[in-house]
Amino acid sequence: MIDKKGLLIVISGPSAVGKGTICKELIKRNIENLEISISATTRKPRYNEVNGVNYHFISKETFESMVQQGEFLEYAQVYDNYYGTPKKYVIDRLSEGKDVILEIDIQGAKQVRENYKEGIFIFIMPPSYKELKNRIMKRGTEAQKDIEKRMKCAYEEIKQAEYYNYIVVNDDLYSAVEKIYCIITAEKCKLNRY
Ligand code: 5GP
Repeated sequence: MIDKKGLLIVISGPSAVGKGTICKELIKRNIENLEISISATTRKPRYNEVNGVNYHFISKETFESMVQQGEFLEYAQVYDNYYGTPKKYVIDRLSEGKDVILEIDIQGAKQVRENYKEGIFIFIMPPSYKELKNRIMKRGTEAQKDIEKRMKCAYEEIKQAEYYNYIVVNDDLYSAVEKIYCIITAEKCKLNRY
């Protein structure tokens, strides 16, 4: 048998494109060996979020000390908060042969790309800017001025799509999840991955 390391799958894209929902749907499929990394953040939990499930909600001081200790695989300031991927968890899972999904922003994906070239990088693209704005507004978590800020960011972020291995347009949730499932399946069958 081939002794293999797990696959690191990075799912990224602009705010409100639906990355989180796509990842939740992927996890619901109970794909063998597939896990999602839980990020740490200094953001306050939203009403339906649970510590240790959606995120590890930590203080800015704890976050900064983790940065100092080199405990993040990547981290970034996204709007007014910090987000980071705990390194040990991911490295341990990959060495056990587990496949790990990181659902992170574009700055974080860039850092992972620089340090972990064998990762699979998937960019989730909105069907249009108009639809992206609708989704941000529908989410109802952002004030009007923040919506404009996020849209401005999205224009810049979408320019980064060319550096990814795959682009999946999220026009229909089911079909986007299906495409990602197919990508993961194909990548796991690749001969030259070992
Ligand atoms: P939200 O606050 O809406 O949950 O997430 C805001 C943004 O932060 C999203 O684009 C999300 O993908 C990104 N994000 C979540 N966790 C991480 C992480 O660990 N690292 C980075 N770089 N971005 C993250």
